[in-house]
Amino acid sequence: MRVEETDVVVVGGRLAGSATAITLARGGHRVVVLEKRRLPSDTLSSHALVPSAVAETARLGALDRLLALRPPRSPWVHVGAGDVQVHEHWSAVDGIGYGLCIPRIDQDVELARTAEAAGADVRMDAEVVDVVWRGGRAAGVRVVQDGEEREIRARLVVGADGRRSTVAARVGAWQPYRASRNGRGAAYRYMTDPQVGTRWHETMSQWRWGTTIGYTFPIPGERMICMLMPPAERIAELRRDPEAAWSRLVAEDPAGIGERLRGAAEHTKIRSTAETISFFRASSGPGWALAGDAGHFKDPVIGSGQRDALRFGRRLGELVGPVLDADGEDHELDDALRTWERERDRTCMASYHWGSRESRPIAPATPLQREIIRTFDGHRGQLADNFGRVRDPERIVGPRVVALGLLNALHRFPEQRGAIVREALGELPIEAGIRLDRWLGRRLFRASTTRPSERGDVAFPPAPRPRRAAEPTGGSGEAAGAPAAEASPAPAA
Ligand SMILES: Cc1cc2nc3c(=O)[nH]c(=O)nc-3n(C[C@H](O)[C@H](O)[C@H](O)COP(=O)(O)OP(=O)(O)OC[C@H]3O[C@@H](n4cnc5c(N)ncnc54)[C@H](O)[C@@H]3O)c2cc1C
Repeated sequence: MRVEETDVVVVGGRLAGSATAITLARGGHRVVVLEKRRLPSDTLSSHALVPSAVAETARLGALDRLLALRPPRSPWVHVGAGDVQVHEHWSAVDGIGYGLCIPRIDQDVELARTAEAAGADVRMDAEVVDVVWRGGRAAGVRVVQDGEEREIRARLVVGADGRRSTVAARVGAWQPYRASRNGRGAAYRYMTDPQVGTRWHETMSQWRWGTTIGYTFPIPGERMICMLMPPAERIAELRRDPEAAWSRLVAEDPAGIGERLRGAAEHTKIRSTAETISFFRASSGPGWALAGDAGHFKDPVIGSGQRDALRFGRRLGELVGPVLDADGEDHELDDALRTWERERDRTCMASYHWGSRESRPIAPATPLQREIIRTFDGHRGQLADNFGRVRDPERIVGPRVVALGLLNALHRFPEQRGAIVREALGELPIEAGIRLDRWLGRRLFRASTTRPSERGDVAFPPAPRPRRAAEPTGGSGEAAGAPAAEASPAPAA
């Protein structure tokens, strides 16, 4: 078998993989990125980049490439829940006060090209099938490239290979130590945006009605993406009869998302999934790390995955770079990896809980929730800071905001007082559990206690079994890289 040597092998060449590779290659390290697909290639995602995510692309030196794709800039955020309509401006991060939304087929290849320009050796059609061990440490990978299996030895193996990570399976970290069952599914498609030229084409919107949350984001080419997130059970309807089920869902909110989509044409096929289990995996060990979705996934209802894949890909490179530089001892490398995992967990715990909370399949537009949202009307920039990850959710929707929303809900809907009080009381243990977890999280590593915001009764899918070079890959889809529950790939917009 052919054997190569490098400093770092990165498995997976999209967000987390490119961010790690760019940072380490810029630091002068030899980095090989192995991506089993040939980019440009699409993947399941509604691909909104909030300003802090856009700022990450700028730090990585990829923003100019992304802007060259001419995406509309969205300085505005909107949340609509029945008669409550909050319009805000994003808070700027590193001077960037707009969000972007670029189909992954175009976006990800630009990130990979940035990694290449930084000096990484980026290889497509290169599928990692195993991790190589030496003295109890990950010491490289076996990869199938050009139909031939070869070994690439490295001091550090980074699995940036998504939720169904081969590296996680091979290092024994497949089973999350903490996970929450999703309550919502996701279905999305592209269409023309009839609001080009108005502020709507510069606005990222969330719509809340019935038991569904929906999104509209402007994308390049005078188009937009619309994603609907009903309770997971309703995804079956969308599979059976996509067009009818889609129309039914949109028709449930005629003055909200229904109005936003009015006149939109050239609808692409609907892609959907009911598999969005949120989780934390042990993400560092002797000579290995799991970056991006491979190590931690949050419910897409909060649209934060890309931001964290980029940010903690970069942070991984920044933290381990100096140890690799100095040719430090193995224990120094492992300490740096553990420090990185700790930082990621502390930073992501709040949004993990927020995503789990928002993915409960309950009505997101109750009188109480609507009145809580209404308290932000006119308070520039506060609610958007939640989506933008500028401040933690429990600081934004704090006790004062909840009390105000509760009083207003009781005042406006006297006939529903019983239900409103019950809902408020039901939120108390959830709130307390999240705050306790945040406090403990500063002290404990890999805390696994399930809190009331989570649905811990998760049947996590089994790990993919090891594959040998002679076996077929199962095609170019995400067969080994994403949940099995994906339907009807969309033509690119
Ligand atoms: C329905 C849905 C909607 C979403 N919407 C948003 C949103 O609006 N905004 C947002 O920020 N996030 C969103 N997310 C989350 C976001 O898509 C992910 O967090 C992000 O893609 C993570 O990037 P990554 O680089 O870690 O992994 P991935 O994007 O999954 O990339 C992993 C790569 O690894 C490769 N790979 C896998 N196995 C191997 C192997 N053995 N060898 C070599 N290569 C391999 C794969 O081919 C793939 O290219 C959404 C997710 C879903 C499911």
